[in-house]
Amino acid sequence: MKAVANYIKSLFLFELLKGLNLTMRYLWEKKITIQYPDEKTPQSYRFRGRHALRRYPNGEERCIACKLCEAVCPALAITIEASEREDGTRRTTRYEIDLTKCIFCGFCEESCPVDSIVETRVFEYHGEQRGDLLMTKEKLLAAGDELEEQLAADRALDAPYR
Ligand code: SF4
Ligand code: SF4
Repeated sequence: MKAVANYIKSLFLFELLKGLNLTMRYLWEKKITIQYPDEKTPQSYRFRGRHALRRYPNGEERCIACKLCEAVCPALAITIEASEREDGTRRTTRYEIDLTKCIFCGFCEESCPVDSIVETRVFEYHGEQRGDLLMTKEKLLAAGDELEEQLAADRALDAPYR
């Protein structure tokens, strides 16, 4: 019986008509295609783009080299080396994120007790040479300095949910 039904359906091009019906239904709908890069879709304040390391308002690095982010990273993309400073505080001497390994899961950001490592809204970047996608401590801190205003505003929006 099923075979007969299928035969009749194929005879009258049922699947084709079904597809065309769907096309016709959306033909006059409002278009959702975005002319990127001239147009851009709205971004969430929780967007997980390229990373940055933040500082406190007095310029001190937030990172205390606890290595939680390194431990939690499922892609093993973070490498940290640390030592004690003269004032007895612990700081990183090396902090690197290999963006070719990173899967932008956000675990590093979630695990950080001092809101130091964060993922920014930056997603338009590329690398042309080996090493361009290795985010060193200097690059991460520079990104944090450049984007601090936006980062602080985004974290303030997220505060009620933490
Ligand atoms: S976003 Fe995820 S994969 Fe990328 S560095 Fe952070 S923890 Fe690792
Ligand atoms: S970025 Fe945060 S989680 Fe990672 S080592 Fe520094 S303080 Fe710890």
